[in-house]
Amino acid sequence: MSVMRKALLWASTNAWLRERAMRTGFVKKSVKKFMPGEKVEDAIQAAAALKPSGINTILTRLGENITHLKEADDVFNHYMSVLALVKQAGIDTQISIKPTQLGYDQDPEKCFDYCMKLLRACEQQNVLFWLDMESSPYVDGTLALYKRLRPQSANVGVAIQAYLIRTDKDLEDLVAMGALVRMVKGAYLEPPTVAFPEKSRVDEQYYKNCERLLRDDANKPGALLHIATHDVTLQERLRALIAERKIDPKRYEFAMLFGINSARQHELAKAGVKIRCLISYGEFWFPWYMRRLGERPANVWFVVKNMFKG
Ligand SMILES: Cc1cc2nc3c(=O)[nH]c(=O)nc-3n(C[C@H](O)[C@H](O)[C@H](O)COP(=O)(O)OP(=O)(O)OC[C@H]3O[C@@H](n4cnc5c(N)ncnc54)[C@H](O)[C@@H]3O)c2cc1C
Repeated sequence: MSVMRKALLWASTNAWLRERAMRTGFVKKSVKKFMPGEKVEDAIQAAAALKPSGINTILTRLGENITHLKEADDVFNHYMSVLALVKQAGIDTQISIKPTQLGYDQDPEKCFDYCMKLLRACEQQNVLFWLDMESSPYVDGTLALYKRLRPQSANVGVAIQAYLIRTDKDLEDLVAMGALVRMVKGAYLEPPTVAFPEKSRVDEQYYKNCERLLRDDANKPGALLHIATHDVTLQERLRALIAERKIDPKRYEFAMLFGINSARQHELAKAGVKIRCLISYGEFWFPWYMRRLGERPANVWFVVKNMFKG
């Protein structure tokens, strides 16, 4: 992992920097590259604009590690209102939450209750409900949450990180239960005891993990794979595998983030590939934005350019 990426991931957890950056004009301007706005209406408008191109969406309100359980109530109510707006807008969208946004740190049982209620509301609208995967101390808890939710409904999925050493094993349990898995490389600063430090190894793990999820024995009722990466080489390798094995298109979708290689998102949609764009919105964007900067050094120059533009 590069020094710059390490520094940005460290910065993502620093409260002092967060306070300052969130008030700084050129940083706020740069964030717009990755999100259509702070309000859910901005995200819904962006989703509606992508729909005619055949790109469906996933919505997520930025926020993590809330400090008081009562904030989880607001987050829960917010997502309930998002479901109503999604229905009105007639868009094919899914929602994605972070357990620590719904009170996992304060009370895991309460977090489960919020997730269960949201899942039931999602089911009524046939909307998929995703659990994001946060940093490694949350993996056991998030998987435990998922393993309680999945038997209740086929409308719930979980993100799994290819950079974690434990993932090969976790996937075996998930395959056995017919899980809906969003495969990602992983976005947090993790020690080498927990995550593979070499990018080439993570890329290989990513391919291997998706291949595992596309085998015949993973084809269980309701199971789904989201191939969530911007890595065009991996996307193409996996498309070749899918074609070779004649995998049913119902078993997978590709997913990318809003503002990152949108030309590729349109290209995939045009080629008839199912592609979803994850749109983030909200006021608490700092840690998420630092993680996006860390993924590509050129993004940092974009911020610097905005600084000089004023
Ligand atoms: C739909 C979706 C959901 C996600 N959910 C989670 C989650 O729940 N938990 C989690 O830990 N991580 C999540 N991630 C983030 C993921 O873990 C990676 O950090 C991120 O996707 C970058 O890795 P990559 O697979 O795109 O590959 P990389 O090898 O990092 O990137 C491949 C290429 O894509 C381009 N690229 C990648 N990132 C950026 C960027 N920020 N700006 C500009 N160009 C870029 C670059 O050209 C790069 O060469 C999610 C990603 C997606 C797409």
